[in-house]
Amino acid sequence: MPGYSDRDRGRDRDRGYGGSGGPPRFGGNRGGGGGGGGGGGGGKFGNPGERLRKKQWNMDELPKFEKNFYQPHPDVSRRPPQDVELYRRTKVITFKGRECPNPIAKFHEASFPSYVMDVITKQGWTEPTPIQAQGWPLALSGKDMVGIAQTGSGKTLSYLLPAIVHINHQPFLERGDGPICLVLAPTRELAQQVQQVAAEYGRASRLKTTCIYGGAPKGPQIRDLERGVEICIATPGRLIDFLEAGKTNLRRCTYLVLDEADRMLDMGFEPQIRKIVDQIRPDRQTLMWSATWPKEVRQLAEDFLKEYVQINVGALQLSANHNILQIVDVCNDGEKENKLIRLLEEIMSEKENKTIIFVETKRRCDDLTRRMRRDGWPAMGIHGDKSQQERDWVLNEFKYGKAPILIATDVASRGLDVEDVKFVINFDYPNNSEDYIHRIGRTARSQKTGTAYTFFTPNNMRQASDLISVLREANQAINPKLLQMAEDRGGKSNWSFKGRQRW
Ligand code: AMP
Repeated sequence: MPGYSDRDRGRDRDRGYGGSGGPPRFGGNRGGGGGGGGGGGGGKFGNPGERLRKKQWNMDELPKFEKNFYQPHPDVSRRPPQDVELYRRTKVITFKGRECPNPIAKFHEASFPSYVMDVITKQGWTEPTPIQAQGWPLALSGKDMVGIAQTGSGKTLSYLLPAIVHINHQPFLERGDGPICLVLAPTRELAQQVQQVAAEYGRASRLKTTCIYGGAPKGPQIRDLERGVEICIATPGRLIDFLEAGKTNLRRCTYLVLDEADRMLDMGFEPQIRKIVDQIRPDRQTLMWSATWPKEVRQLAEDFLKEYVQINVGALQLSANHNILQIVDVCNDGEKENKLIRLLEEIMSEKENKTIIFVETKRRCDDLTRRMRRDGWPAMGIHGDKSQQERDWVLNEFKYGKAPILIATDVASRGLDVEDVKFVINFDYPNNSEDYIHRIGRTARSQKTGTAYTFFTPNNMRQASDLISVLREANQAINPKLLQMAEDRGGKSNWSFKGRQRW
């Protein structure tokens, strides 16, 4: 088994290095599609990826590559089984599958090379998150894996750091080679966030990264690909476009990540994902991440992963981050605006006041933003019909506190990682409990705390008992009016919640 060390540090990856690790550039102002650049829609052809043929692989002819780089730290391999068990129990880590390596408990136990460790050390974090503790040894050992973890659990680094080690052990890219690591993500927001992390950690070993997504000009993205990138983060629609047009290829891809697989399926990306995966050699390492484990996601795992280990962090039922105070206000639709204003008056008098207000439709988002701005509130709106440039600008204004109120549709409910969001207000209740959990998960990132206010109206009645389960699981006080509503409905659960159990 090959070990990994610092031998690769400073390897000359510089041929053609174009500094594409920086933030993506935008110049155009084309209206973007839904969150991921056109889920299910698919480029300019009726049937996305129509021109891509499933590849026939002759395994004897494919160049060999390495994927097991794990050398357990002596403290980890010698750890008594009862200590391993205790650690997993304390961190609520469970797994399914054969030969799951022991989790690590400290950063140094992951035995990352120093070019990775140096960047981790700079962050000043105290210990790996549970998904990292169990995910790193698994991913470094070259196994296919599924990770089920909450939003904000540190999953991006769980797959990116092993990806960097993987890449540093592969031959250099040659002219015309596509990426070695491909990360597929449902939305451009998530893709951009992942790219920022990839660029930060990849820089030390001179890895080039790019982010490919719809709704932005193709030129700069194509130039990045032509220059050669080891890591490509992409939304499926735009990547299919580029593969069909021969702007990139996946011949060198040996490390595939499907991030937020459940969300990609919800957005109708399944045909595109299948087309893309057909272009990648079957002996690749595949890592799939999802917040939930419905049967559609399970099927994808069966089809794309070889014998895999599945790890799960957190309660086995759908659950919200326990660092969030959840307050549910049962009211009528007509009362919501006044209630919102009163709430915001309180919130804005606080020092830390960054707030996301979720609404159901793009129209409602525009209306509410316009009226609030007219009344002098520092609010901005974001939804899938805004141009990419505008969305980036709005997000930056929010991130840096110039406009501390963001009014959003579900385009911002997953993946958006702004560290200091203190409040989430569900002005409109979402369609299902998963979206509720993702929305409120925008606050209380990492170890912080936050508050979620939810307006719950009789129109949302069928969701009452699911919401109660989420509140109970997180030990929250339950509004008696909500309990009453669930009772009036006979305690019937919304099917979408039941149908999306994790196991
Ligand atoms: P993610 O789930 O990947 O979106 O990460 C959520 C947030 O946690 C990001 O802001 C990360 O920078 C942060 N983070 C990642 N790993 C750790 C860690 N080990 N300790 C504390 N924060 C972390």
